[in-house]
Amino acid sequence: MTIDFGLSKEQLDIQKAVREFANAEFTKDYILELELGHKFPFELWKKACDLGFIAIDYPEEYGGQGYNLLERVLVTEEFCRQGGGVGNSLMLSNFGCKLILKHGSEEQKRKYLIPACQGEAISWAAFTEPDRGSDLVTFPLSTTSVRTNNGSYLINGTKTFITNATIASFGTVLCQTDFQAKPPYRGQSIMIVERDLDGVEVTEWAKMGMNYSPTTDLSLKNVRVSQENLLGEENRGFYYAMEFLNEVRIEIGAMGVGIAQGAFDRALNYSRARTAFGRKIGEFQAISHKLAEMATKIETARLLAYKAAFEFDNGTAGSKVCSMAKWYSARVAVEVADEAIEILGGHGYMLENEVERFYRDAKSLELVEGTREIHKNIIARNLLGRLS
Ligand SMILES: Cc1cc2nc3c(=O)[nH]c(=O)nc-3n(C[C@H](O)[C@H](O)[C@H](O)COP(=O)(O)OP(=O)(O)OC[C@H]3O[C@@H](n4cnc5c(N)ncnc54)[C@H](O)[C@@H]3O)c2cc1C
Repeated sequence: MTIDFGLSKEQLDIQKAVREFANAEFTKDYILELELGHKFPFELWKKACDLGFIAIDYPEEYGGQGYNLLERVLVTEEFCRQGGGVGNSLMLSNFGCKLILKHGSEEQKRKYLIPACQGEAISWAAFTEPDRGSDLVTFPLSTTSVRTNNGSYLINGTKTFITNATIASFGTVLCQTDFQAKPPYRGQSIMIVERDLDGVEVTEWAKMGMNYSPTTDLSLKNVRVSQENLLGEENRGFYYAMEFLNEVRIEIGAMGVGIAQGAFDRALNYSRARTAFGRKIGEFQAISHKLAEMATKIETARLLAYKAAFEFDNGTAGSKVCSMAKWYSARVAVEVADEAIEILGGHGYMLENEVERFYRDAKSLELVEGTREIHKNIIARNLLGRLS
């Protein structure tokens, strides 16, 4: 058995190209302007799409680069390292498109994936409801999709905390389609919904961080879609969603690694430059030990995220490694950004010094795609099996 922790020459070239792009384009002033204006980075997104970064792991026939998840993880990490939440908003601009890639018809793939890969359309993926977040299984969803006599579907309900819906052209929506199914999740289906359809309304939440992508309520009132908007098979939606979330969780892990590394970089530079009591603060053991701990946590999180992506690309990633990568990296991002604020002292609390933003952006990673409690439940279930 061989274990090779190195990236290939091609992967190193991708990493270098993304790093150079992010260093040149994600300037401090530009990100501050986006943060204060709560703006999605449209210009940056277009450039990143044109360079093939956003759809790096989509097939070339739909406008992607044909690489795998590990390469996407490398792009995500570098974007988040330089831009924190800006990287998150860029990489989630095609949120839900992997569902279409995996389960869509050829017509659906051409219609939705090509514009998303080419920087002409943004998308959402809607699972959460006001009364159902972690638990999508115990009760039927309140968002329903009912087949009418002429074969079309009528969708009603509200999804909450949906990333991108105000700026997106289309998205996927998990709906209840079979109301007798037991357990109820066996009666869920995914519908593709276009933003400009009659009955679709979106309202935006104000939030703590991640201010470069809108988080919205998506209200669907008698929204009529055709049979062609059903994704894959009816009543298979829950299974598609769980499989999709496993993949996205690895990507969230990469965001955590990038955000943690970005906060660490800034704390390291500050420790070399700042003086107190006639010495560089990095000379105080209390500070240098913080840096040592931060660097070790980041390295551990990175290894886990890369391992999960590697296993995913080889078809062997189970829910355990995906949950480990997501939960651990998100936690490390929060802890490292917290310590970075501490190292910068009062300067760390100020908006223009970036680390407080890394902290606020990091916190959202612990909540999206399953809270840390849910991920520990998944990991523990894998370890213990069924006990009763
Ligand atoms: C910035 C942001 C963007 C988001 N984007 C999207 C999106 O694009 N699409 C989408 O569908 N959703 C999105 N979400 C929603 C997110 O996935 C949910 O918030 C998350 O799944 C948790 O659901 P909830 O908020 O309803 O919390 P709840 O499920 O109500 O949980 C509340 C608390 O109870 C705990 N808890 C619940 N069940 C258990 C249990 N069995 N064991 C132990 N503890 C438990 C939770 O861990 C949590 O601490 C987003 C959220 C945020 C913050």
